[in-house]
Amino acid sequence: MEEAKQLFKKLKIHSLLDLALIIPSSYNDTTLSSTLKLGKVNTLEAKVVDTSVYHGKLRVTFNLTRSGRRLSSTFFRVTPYHHKLFETGSNHVIQGKLEEYKGYLQMVQPKSIKQVGRITPKYKTVLKESEIASLLEVYVTEKNLFNEGLDSKEVATLMHIHFPKSLEEVYENGVFKPDLVDVLKFVEAFNHLKKLRGKKVDFPALRALKGDIKPFVENLPFTLTAEQKEVITQIQIDLASEERAAKRMVVGDVGSGKTMVILASVMMALPYKSILMAPTSLLALQLYEEACKHLPKDVKVALVMQGKDEGNYAQADFIIGTHALLYKEDLPQASLVMVDEQHRFGTKQRQSLEALMSGEGKKPHFIQFSATPIPRTQAMMESELLDVSLITTTPFEREVLTQTISRQDFPDLLTHIKEEIAQKHQVLIIYPLVEESSEVPYQSLDESREFWESKFENVYVTHGKDKQKEEILLEFREKGDILLATTVVEVGISLPRLTLIVIVGAERLGLATLHQLRGRVGRNGLKSWCYLYSNTQANDRLTQFTKTTNGFDIAKLDLKFRDSGDILDGTMQSGQRFKWLDMAEDEKVVEYAKVRVKSAY
Ligand code: ADP
Ligand code: MG
Repeated sequence: MEEAKQLFKKLKIHSLLDLALIIPSSYNDTTLSSTLKLGKVNTLEAKVVDTSVYHGKLRVTFNLTRSGRRLSSTFFRVTPYHHKLFETGSNHVIQGKLEEYKGYLQMVQPKSIKQVGRITPKYKTVLKESEIASLLEVYVTEKNLFNEGLDSKEVATLMHIHFPKSLEEVYENGVFKPDLVDVLKFVEAFNHLKKLRGKKVDFPALRALKGDIKPFVENLPFTLTAEQKEVITQIQIDLASEERAAKRMVVGDVGSGKTMVILASVMMALPYKSILMAPTSLLALQLYEEACKHLPKDVKVALVMQGKDEGNYAQADFIIGTHALLYKEDLPQASLVMVDEQHRFGTKQRQSLEALMSGEGKKPHFIQFSATPIPRTQAMMESELLDVSLITTTPFEREVLTQTISRQDFPDLLTHIKEEIAQKHQVLIIYPLVEESSEVPYQSLDESREFWESKFENVYVTHGKDKQKEEILLEFREKGDILLATTVVEVGISLPRLTLIVIVGAERLGLATLHQLRGRVGRNGLKSWCYLYSNTQANDRLTQFTKTTNGFDIAKLDLKFRDSGDILDGTMQSGQRFKWLDMAEDEKVVEYAKVRVKSAY
């Protein structure tokens, strides 16, 4: 038992189904072949009738017992062992690829098989073959698999895969049969969902929150979209519970209007306090401004940032801040905790704010907001752990024309940039690197800077490690024409006059990143352009990207292309990787697995 535990640890597995899902990479089959199959591996009874040595190679002539035909074999790396093994007159069961040459049967370097009639699965793991084989034998039993909640077909399939009676049962043309693969997909999804469900723990809420959102909604200069309303209703139901603290993630594209959901939630929390953490001070400031603008005047809003005058935040109804919040010793307890752009925080940071507000086994209601759309399958998976709301539409259609361009389009690009600036619009140019590198076939920020500064006025430059980044962005927002940057602007600030973005070396970036970058332009409905600058030939991924602006479709595309290997920024949402399950295509499988997990618990 203890020994098995060590082995499980080495395999990095945590459940019986993890073990059952260690699938053979191939099989060793020593069943005697019933007929001679040319071009295939055959297992044949044979007697040595002659041997000879030729240029250091050993030539053995066999007489095949069943067919009576002759077969000759050549051994290249010969040792005394071979001579002894294949003594004239000795009987063997030989295995190897059978070929015919001018009417003579041949087999190159056959093995002499000791145990006939065995199918041995081969596993590629860190364990010794005997170790993994014995683990599987002991633990992957029908009884154990049934206990995991699988049905008889699924159990039978896994048993066939690990302990096949004949290879025809599992293989077709050297790959697993489609119906087996379907079962493997299901088991993978089922196993993953079961684990998530096992991790889910609910806590009682500090209190039920039932504040009226009407004074806020009725004063908005626009009506909420159907999806905004739906999410708000979901949150109302969440927050009205005292038995269970809400745990929800609201996922919506940049510009989908998540801030309104945040503000409506603040209303629900009244007369109790809400707190919101944002990843940058700029974003915190923007949220603060929007809160002041849209919330009824009697709602007290406070902003907490490092080094800024914090005022009397202890009295506020709604406290907005950066991670600086985590270091305040006198934060009042809020009944509702929210985190905006949650993917910009580490898990620890996100949870510590929630923890700060917890007490006596009770937790605040907790809502996170994410601007990184995830594929529906992934949302379905994650909703096993926390509730997920998707906002898939934006309040107004943004007009952003996306195009791939290359060197010969540069003069046209310059003309277009001048036109935009002449209309008091702003331009953003994204470079792959700050400094020159021999590995990247594009200009860096440093190299190109001089060119832009010589041709244009009001050129601003910043990048991810730039300490002045936020100040520069703020100044650019007021006075700039062109901003040169790396992908720093990915999330955060809103630049309402930005109408043209050029992404240099676009093929090097993941679609999620490209989508975030494109989301920077046209925020206020101005007609905008996104140019994907690339030296490479037509790129299917980029072409497909130019055709859609919906983040959820793009998340799916990203999945489809993520193994194409040319994406260097690793922005693909972490999400679990599956061997059999295709997160882009297998929505039905995940859906079914969810039903099964639900009924099993
Ligand atoms: P997100 O945080 O999801 O990226 P925001 O909340 O910043 O998006 O909203 C983007 C813009 O859309 C803001 O200017 C906001 O005022 C506006 N907006 C939000 N909801 C609506 C709506 N229902 N109708 C019109 N405009 C809206
Ligand atoms: Mg936002």
